[in-house]
Amino acid sequence: MGGKGKVVVVGHVSRTFKWCQKPLTISNSAGVAGLTTALILSKRGHSVAVVAKHMPGDYDIDYTSPWAGANYYPISTPGTREAEWDRVTFAELYRLAAQVPEAGVHFQDAIIYRREKDSRSVTADWFSELLKERPWFASAVPEFRTIPKSDLPPGVDFGTRWKSMCINTAIYLPYLLSQCLKRQVTFCRGALTHIRDAVNFHPTSSSDIVVVNCTGLGSSTLGGVADSRVTPVRGQTVLVRNIAPAMIVVSGTDDGDDEVMYIMTRAAGGGTVLGGTYQKGNWSSVPDKSTAERIMKRAVEWCPELVSKGEGVEGLDVVRHGVGLRPFREGGARVEREAIGGVRVVHNYGAGSFGYQASYGMTEEAVKLVEESLGEEVKARL
Ligand SMILES: Cc1cc2nc3c(=O)[nH]c(=O)nc-3n(C[C@H](O)[C@H](O)[C@H](O)COP(=O)(O)OP(=O)(O)OC[C@H]3O[C@@H](n4cnc5c(N)ncnc54)[C@H](O)[C@@H]3O)c2cc1C
Repeated sequence: MGGKGKVVVVGHVSRTFKWCQKPLTISNSAGVAGLTTALILSKRGHSVAVVAKHMPGDYDIDYTSPWAGANYYPISTPGTREAEWDRVTFAELYRLAAQVPEAGVHFQDAIIYRREKDSRSVTADWFSELLKERPWFASAVPEFRTIPKSDLPPGVDFGTRWKSMCINTAIYLPYLLSQCLKRQVTFCRGALTHIRDAVNFHPTSSSDIVVVNCTGLGSSTLGGVADSRVTPVRGQTVLVRNIAPAMIVVSGTDDGDDEVMYIMTRAAGGGTVLGGTYQKGNWSSVPDKSTAERIMKRAVEWCPELVSKGEGVEGLDVVRHGVGLRPFREGGARVEREAIGGVRVVHNYGAGSFGYQASYGMTEEAVKLVEESLGEEVKARL
């Protein structure tokens, strides 16, 4: 690595000082993007501060990460940077599931079912790679196999199964935060109106800071960023105490193009997340009752093992209904450098529906950009 720096992560924005012996990073945002960025920067010796409006423990419509399932179902196209992000992240999530129980990540089989009648659905388009007979990740994940026709449920034409991971976000986000604290990352509550103000949140008063912008959906309004390509994709879910034997995703539903069917059981008593919806441009934070009823009905139909024999939806034991807004960005997630009002900024936002499963890959790229930025700073000073 070149010099060490100071980084502020907003929603995760991080600032790095290259010439400091102990560099500082400020991140303004405490979602999965900001926390992962802060952690990796601190592991690499930078001095990091995080400033965010919401922190682990909060449940708010402007804070997506706690609402995610979250699982590893790669939807990226082969040969793209997104596929590389997914590939990199798989290795770290696998390590956490195998060796770090306190992270709240566990192994669970992933199943995908393809119905011929969904071939033109929005979901089938979204999941096009997942639905292939041999997706790019088939050789990257353990135990990838095609499900024999005789084992497929009625109406399903094709299915695959592999060993994957499910993340209990209620454990994982505090875990990331605690790992940051262990490495002297500082945390501060703050709602920024302009990205350049992040620099004020680093505990030192140096002017040489790199800010990492990890503000998710907040990037659509944050001053200096105001990215008009960022829009919400609303996801409504139901969290239940019932347990599913495997994660299941289906290529579509009979309830409209913006509804989806997925089930995943979280680690360590985290319950089972039933989904869901995929509603682009919908900002509503209120769970819709009839949508919730459809979500639960579909879940019991696709996974009767969730409830006792003979029971239907009434066998589901609801913990809570939830809504999260995926930070979707037209044209793809943004991991790049920019100078804004004299402040060096590295963006890491817009992951839409893959913020967890791409988190380490996106962070790896963002950290490289932070360190490039610091390298230029040092050169300029020589
Ligand atoms: C229902 C649902 C299911 C999902 N399932 C999965 C899944 O299975 N797998 C997967 O990989 N992904 C999944 N996702 C997507 C994933 O949750 C997101 O991609 C990810 O959480 C985005 O994280 P983030 O850190 O970019 O944003 P956020 O978690 O929203 O964090 C943004 C941070 O920035 C802060 N912030 C914003 N604006 C400002 C400001 N002006 N000043 C200060 N701070 C600010 C916020 O307070 C917050 O701390 C799902 C999402 C939903 C809604």
